[in-house]
Parts: sequence; C-alpha cells; structure tokens
Amino acid sequence: MSLHWASLTDVGRHRDHNEDSVWPGAGTGTTDRRLVAGVADGMGGHAGGEIASRTAIEAATGMGGSALVRVQAANLAVIDTAGRQSRLAGMGTTLTLAIIAEDGTADIAHVGDSRAYRVHDGRLEQITTDHSYVAAMVEAGKLTPEEASVHPYRSVLIRAIGLEPGVDVDTHQVILEPGDRLILCSDGLTSMLDDAAVAKILAGHDDPAAAVAALIEAANLAGGADNISVVIVDRG
Ligand code: CA
Repeated sequence: MSLHWASLTDVGRHRDHNEDSVWPGAGTGTTDRRLVAGVADGMGGHAGGEIASRTAIEAATGMGGSALVRVQAANLAVIDTAGRQSRLAGMGTTLTLAIIAEDGTADIAHVGDSRAYRVHDGRLEQITTDHSYVAAMVEAGKLTPEEASVHPYRSVLIRAIGLEPGVDVDTHQVILEPGDRLILCSDGLTSMLDDAAVAKILAGHDDPAAAVAALIEAANLAGGADNISVVIVDRG
C-alpha cells in the first residue's frame, strides 16, 4: 500500500492570523507506512487559539496509541498549557485525528467541528458529526441543514479540546480501499463551500496537492471568512 498526502493551511481573507494547525505540516509526500494526519482549529483571545491548536497537534502526533488515546492526551496537554499562563486561560481547539494503518484502516477520533470525509467510488461521504449547536439542532429536527449553514450561532461548539479533563471524544473506523481519498478540514473550508462544491473540486484534481490548493483557493474566492485548512490522504 502507498499513501499520497498533501496538506495546507491558509489564513483566509478576513483574519489577521491563522489559528489552525495541520499534520503533517504543510507540504506533500508519499509513504508505504502508517500515517498520522490531523487538523486543529483553535479559539481563544490573544495567542491562545494558535497555541491551543499547535499544542493539541503536537501532543496527538508525538505519541503512540489509538486516535482516541491521542485526542484524550491532547485535551490534557491543552488544559495543562492553559493552566500555566493566565493569558491562555479559556483557550480551546477542535481536533480531528486520523491514523491510517498499512492495511488501509483509518482510525479517526474527533472533538469539535473540523470534519473528516471519505471519497469512495467517486462519492463524498462525511464521516464525522460536528459538535456544534446547529448540528445538534439539525439532529433534533429543529433546523434544516440549509438553515444551519446560515444560522448566527453556526460556529458555536458544544464540545472542544482544552475545556474539561473528561472530554467526550467520537471515534470512527473506516477502510480506505485502493483509490479512496480521506479529507480532513477546518470549518473555514466547509462554511464557505457546500459538499457538492467540495466534491466537484476533489473530482477535478487527482493529485492531492493540487486538490488541497484548489479547495483553499475556492474557499477564498467564496469569501475566505475564516482560516482554511485541508489535509488529503489518497490510498494508491
Ligand atoms: Ca475556524
């Protein structure tokens, strides 16, 4: 098996700094071994958001174990870092982490609204469920997805990394078959582009680096209201 990956993070067109972090760091590569990929979208005043997302990514990728164990450890690392400096109090982050094993099994864990998708047989499937107020309202039948996408509270999270030690983490296991593609992204992509637009761009770019660049360019053309991060892993 070989995995071809590409990642990129962009400040967007309205923010003056980038609070997202990605793993592997911006670039592209190929491996025939296990690959860890992640996206974190930080929040918090001053430097808090940047530090929260970077701390979470570094903790989760700098250790062994399952995606669940790593996300739990990242949560404790962010809480610990926030506790050391009063200016960082209250910082938090999303974290969506995938460990793709040599047999193509992807072990995914996440907290927040950074998403994982798979493209299988040419179809884009969302793997994760956003831990957001509007996603919970859609789940409860109180909002339509269309209403949620323009709701004033659409960026309000109901779960985040760094707020409480016993954070509830969602996990998913998916198989990447030859030709399948895994996408991790922050909401700066999905708040600007709907799934149909994302699917069309992905279908038009076989090369993961070209696909990542095209998605970020399209999100910026659509407004670029937030930081935009994308990691793509293709199973060859
Ligand atoms: Ca964001």
